[in-house]
Amino acid sequence: MGRKFHQHHPKRLKFSQKTTPDIKNNVTTKSRCCYCGRILYPDTWHYMWDEYGQRVKKCNNELECYRHRKDRAEEAYRNAIR
Ligand SMILES: [Zn+2]
Repeated sequence: MGRKFHQHHPKRLKFSQKTTPDIKNNVTTKSRCCYCGRILYPDTWHYMWDEYGQRVKKCNNELECYRHRKDRAEEAYRNAIR
């Protein structure tokens, strides 16, 4: 008894064509805080030097930043401002 393999190849073209341009646009227009990862809007962030001497973006709202930081980001932030 032979099995019949009917392989249907779903066409994903319309899916991929729609998503790629959107992603590119988001990367160029929106930036995120280096430590908490929240989206930064104009005049709500500043540059600072991180623990490796690189210039990174940091949001101005320290309280919100602290709440959203993960343990590793918190550690990196403390090393940076020391
Ligand atoms: Zn932040």
